[in-house]
Amino acid sequence: MTSTWIEPASTATALLLLGRGTDPASERGVDCPGDLPAPSDPDLVARATAAKAALGDRVFVLGHHYQRDEVIQFADVTGDSFKLAQQAAARPDAEFILFCGVHFMAESADILTTPDQKVILPDLAAGCSMADMAVLGQVETAWERFEDLGITGEIVPVTYMNSSADIKGFVGRNKGVVCTSSNAKRALDWSFEQGSKVFFLPDQHLGRNTAVLEMGFDLDDCVLYDPHKPGGGLTDDQLRNARMILWRGHCSVHGRFTLESVREVRERVPGVNVLVHPECRHEVVRAADYVGSTEYIIKALDAAEPGSSWAVGTELNLVRRMALAHPDKQIMFLDRAVCYCSTMNRIDLPHLVWALEELVAGRVPNQITVDPDTAHHARVALDQMLALP
Ligand code: SF4
Repeated sequence: MTSTWIEPASTATALLLLGRGTDPASERGVDCPGDLPAPSDPDLVARATAAKAALGDRVFVLGHHYQRDEVIQFADVTGDSFKLAQQAAARPDAEFILFCGVHFMAESADILTTPDQKVILPDLAAGCSMADMAVLGQVETAWERFEDLGITGEIVPVTYMNSSADIKGFVGRNKGVVCTSSNAKRALDWSFEQGSKVFFLPDQHLGRNTAVLEMGFDLDDCVLYDPHKPGGGLTDDQLRNARMILWRGHCSVHGRFTLESVREVRERVPGVNVLVHPECRHEVVRAADYVGSTEYIIKALDAAEPGSSWAVGTELNLVRRMALAHPDKQIMFLDRAVCYCSTMNRIDLPHLVWALEELVAGRVPNQITVDPDTAHHARVALDQMLALP
């Protein structure tokens, strides 16, 4: 059967510009410190294959689901951020963990691997705009405000996996927990047994969607703390009365889907199933038929009936790969315009070849390390997540 995949239209904003909507000072560097092969080099695949073979078991390559196909073909394992962190921890014999994903994921891998292992990010510019929306100094300022109000004893901080090691360390220091999009409800259930309020970082949408749609909270129970406004833009009473204090952060990819995208696809494709990630806006998740993590989305599409139609609201590389893997189902992108994660796309074949060949030459490029104190407290918050009932 031939594929039903139709490429979404390319637009002037097809690739989100690096740094847009973030604090440019928090971007993690753009220039590659070495000589990158030309993207047009016809030998790139052969060079990557040869370098990987020369390294053998010394290197373990992790590939996030949102990575390009040209990179994914060299991954020893693919997964979402949590699965990849677990996979890194399960390979203590690999000297090098080559992380084809973004910066916060490589940090988590460094925290969970042994001190002898080296975690490498092929392009240091592969940050995450959502993670960069919560900077430690801003979060500490918010916490001081809560302290002045005398409410920190009631608050449990919860951070999404998609946050920097600094933020995970802050949460660990303050007796909180890390969560993923798969276990956010369990993390919130646990947190509300420890306190009466949650301070949720950095993704407002995951926090709101979980609290309202899975736990029965009212939208009014949630307030939005904006780090760019004095006092977070909230009054003392708003903070005292809130159950969920949501950080004003979001994913620039999933945040693009709108209610209009859902309406449009339902009109265009009768009987379509709308399947979205919980990082999407609240009204989009409400209008969808199914919502779940990246791994959930993959399983739902694998299990879908032949002939069924699916409009999927997540990153385009993954949606295209799923559509091509299931030509007997009509799998399409929820929006009509292209929407890649621009920072995930920083990792391309030239960067992968360069990183592998540097390792073969005995040099360790772009190593990601987390300082021991931050790593210790971040690990406390990660271990609390693993211990969730
Ligand atoms: S898809 Fe969104 S959350 Fe994931 S790395 Fe890209 S910007 Fe960050």
